[in-house]
Amino acid sequence: MTDKPVSKALSRVDQDGHNLPPSPAPSSPSNGRRRYALATELVYTETKDQHGASSIPIYQSATFKQTSASGGGEYDYTRSGNPTRTHLERHMAKIMNANRALAVGSGMGALDVITRLLSPGDEVITGDDLYGGTNRLLTYLARKQNIIVHHVDTTDVAAAVARVSDKTAMVLLETPTNPLIKIVDIPSIAKAAHAANPKALVVVDNTMLSPMLANPLDMGADITYESGTKYLSGHHDIMAGVIAVNDAKLGDELYFMINSTGCGLAPNDSFLLMRGVKTLAIRIEKQQTNAQTIAEFLEGHGFRVRYPGLKSHPQYDLHWSMARGAGAVLSFETGDPALSERIVEATRLWGISVSFGCVNSLISMPCQMSHASIDAKTRQERQMPEDIIRLCVGIEDVNDLIDDLQRALVQAGAVTLSIDGFQANEADPAQA
Ligand SMILES: *Cc1c(COP(=O)(O)O)cnc(C)c1O
Repeated sequence: MTDKPVSKALSRVDQDGHNLPPSPAPSSPSNGRRRYALATELVYTETKDQHGASSIPIYQSATFKQTSASGGGEYDYTRSGNPTRTHLERHMAKIMNANRALAVGSGMGALDVITRLLSPGDEVITGDDLYGGTNRLLTYLARKQNIIVHHVDTTDVAAAVARVSDKTAMVLLETPTNPLIKIVDIPSIAKAAHAANPKALVVVDNTMLSPMLANPLDMGADITYESGTKYLSGHHDIMAGVIAVNDAKLGDELYFMINSTGCGLAPNDSFLLMRGVKTLAIRIEKQQTNAQTIAEFLEGHGFRVRYPGLKSHPQYDLHWSMARGAGAVLSFETGDPALSERIVEATRLWGISVSFGCVNSLISMPCQMSHASIDAKTRQERQMPEDIIRLCVGIEDVNDLIDDLQRALVQAGAVTLSIDGFQANEADPAQA
């Protein structure tokens, strides 16, 4: 890679020293102004729009007219840059505590861009409870492009770091993992991995927490990315992915891939993601308050619940040393896959759906849905319980959510009504 900026548009450093492409409506902080709390920064934008539009317009244009025969405009072609996307990218850089953010068509699109930094023979160290799509892409890269992928239990810092060698090009982490909700010590792994091989890139998928709850770049990661389809947009009406870095050269390399392959986020979706992210704070606050209540409800009925908001989580302290909240995804076991299926199907308010981060509450059986692309044998090796139910909690009234869940548990035969209230049945493993 060359040290030279990929395009003329990238040579501009904004007033705050961020190496970002220009925008007609910058939302990054201007020089010297005070920084507000995240909830404020999420909604605060500055505009330089010709009409003073307070919401960035959708520049639904593939091309931009130039001022001379040799070009000269800030933008020329939307694959390379679009004002609506740039505005979003600057806003995301601010929110993610990054020097540069890049918006692409999906979370997997983001990982595709990042893994294009790899060369045949490079080694990747990653977890054993990965997002299904991540697992699928890595498996493909291992099979077709001679990338050597080591799946390890990343909750064991020593075991993960023991794999780092001079061939390690990337350490790819997710926390909390999903659906097992295992917590990965990002600062310790990043520090030890960089010490063992300074060239190894530590990459963190922050989709489960969002920048509202954690900033992996501040914990030693070189790259963080997340699916904008989840919390960032919050309404399950677009697909998007955001990548963030501090290193300008790395930012240029990633931009090069996006411009080369044409996976930059479209103007209309950039607008929708910008609109969605403004309510991130209020949504996350409500979602995780609901999630906490529901986790306590299920635990109170004897189910084995995995949620970092519960003191019973074995890595409770580690999680809270890295994150500002527990998030809104939890899982629990019933002891029987058929029983779990009946529970999932008996709910009415909880939509049976993959994904999370939406204002609506969702329920799923990961082994049959989001993680079905991981074969049964591998799922077993990775100790993924086939009966596990995942709950992705939305912003509804929490009593309605609990009522619906309670009714589904009774109808499925997971709990019985007694004079004292609800009681988990014998089959429940948490009782043993
Ligand atoms: C959804 C998700 C992705 C992929 O994002 P898409 O926008 O669906 O492509 C990656 N990682 C995690 C943890 C996710 O939940």
